[in-house]
Amino acid sequence: MNQTSPERQGKGTVFVRPEICKGCSFCIDFCPTHCLEFTKDFNPKGYHFPVLARPEDCSGCDLCGLYCPDFAIYGERWKDIDARKAKGPSPSPPPASRPIAAPKVQDTEPADPRGVLTGIHFMDGDHAACEGALAAGCRFVAGYPITPSTEVVERFAARIPTVGGVFIQMEDELASSIAVQGAVWGGRKSLSVTSGPGFSLMMEHIGLAAMTETPGVWVDVQRGGPSTGLPTLPGQADMMQAKWGSHGDYEIIAIVPNSPQECFDLMVKAFNLSELYRCPVMFMMDEVVGHMVERVVIPPASEIRVVPRKWTHKPKDEYRAFATTEDDPVPEMTKAGAGYRIHVTGLTHDERGYPAMNAGAQAKLVRRLLGKIRDNADRIMDVREDGVEGAEIVVVSYGITSRIAMSAVEEARRRGVKVGHLRLVVAWPFPAKRMRELAKTVKVFIMPELNMGQMVMEIERAVAGAARVVSLPHAGGSVHEPETILAAILEAGR
Ligand code: SF4
Ligand code: SF4
Repeated sequence: MNQTSPERQGKGTVFVRPEICKGCSFCIDFCPTHCLEFTKDFNPKGYHFPVLARPEDCSGCDLCGLYCPDFAIYGERWKDIDARKAKGPSPSPPPASRPIAAPKVQDTEPADPRGVLTGIHFMDGDHAACEGALAAGCRFVAGYPITPSTEVVERFAARIPTVGGVFIQMEDELASSIAVQGAVWGGRKSLSVTSGPGFSLMMEHIGLAAMTETPGVWVDVQRGGPSTGLPTLPGQADMMQAKWGSHGDYEIIAIVPNSPQECFDLMVKAFNLSELYRCPVMFMMDEVVGHMVERVVIPPASEIRVVPRKWTHKPKDEYRAFATTEDDPVPEMTKAGAGYRIHVTGLTHDERGYPAMNAGAQAKLVRRLLGKIRDNADRIMDVREDGVEGAEIVVVSYGITSRIAMSAVEEARRRGVKVGHLRLVVAWPFPAKRMRELAKTVKVFIMPELNMGQMVMEIERAVAGAARVVSLPHAGGSVHEPETILAAILEAGR
């Protein structure tokens, strides 16, 4: 960027990249002090571009930068320029081997009692997920009905107005997901929910949410696919999409409940993790868990701890929307209307949120987005183990498949097989370290899942040949027969 007037005549100055200006004149039209003009020169595209014609009138307010559609100009106050220069050049990105610190844990607080339906209920997983979100403080939901997730949407539509929140049915799933973006930056804890092809439509925005560190929860009640697939029949074939569905390098957290009770309990956890790490959290239900009706116990609000948003308390002229520290890789947040000047973009950005389109800024930002999750995988990891110590065979499963796997494991034990069970509650980040530890003693891992072999690839990657890995794929539409899993255990034990 070229500084168009280095003399200190006003309170600020502007920086222009003439070569990318398209001469729209927004900067000139919206400058409140009318200090910009077009030059008579042309840029390589054939447009006149702005210069600071009356530097004594420039306040550095950066309205020109906010209105420029091409990020070809920005304004800055001299005092901010001096402070930036005094800090010296940005440090080069940390080496890849250096772990990123854990986020500072905000104090948790009790849940807002308005959202907590304390009592013993008999409800399905879709409804329980809704109640979990309300208990966690979710006060904005956008969605588009699509089976088998429609009951989540229906319950929010009825329940959320009673607790001071808003539900909106958007025109499609992409719009629903993007509505969450606006609500979060407006200060709400927010969620969107879908199934099948709706999850595909949300992927464009989920990348933006990861890039802009927008906390929120996305519920996918998985059904058989691809495409329209099996609208009201189960699948678990979106597990890789949950992690890799948007473009670019980014990280998310994915949680997999296996009962209506967990749809409540783990939904609170999902919101807490999303606030703690400021990243999208995928709530990967499946049709059976969504439609299964069971007892759900909702505790009093005082017993539900929620992580509040990490609001900044910095003075307005010191706050940088994406600034982090050595000790805390998660930036403090503000919201629209709080009086802070913020710029939130999907472009690679600096700590102010302003576009910084170069390899150094990209390395620094992407490494932090990945590092805050990858380097804290041990803290985020949640697996439930049953009898894995000393087991020669371990069945690894998640979601509804875990309940079927458990009955097969119990039957195999009755027949004298040393078999354990490990359930993924947090599927992403994948507990690769724990798998490697187990592979020192376990001879065979067996993974049944309602897809043609997705998470099993993560076990193979983690154990790297140290143990045999058996995939038990199922194309979806129904669930495994316990006998299928039992047969695989007995075969592995021979
Ligand atoms: S920084 Fe503000 S005052 Fe200066 S040119 Fe831009 S809009 Fe005008
Ligand atoms: S707003 Fe941007 S693109 Fe438009 S004239 Fe100003 S600098 Fe050029």
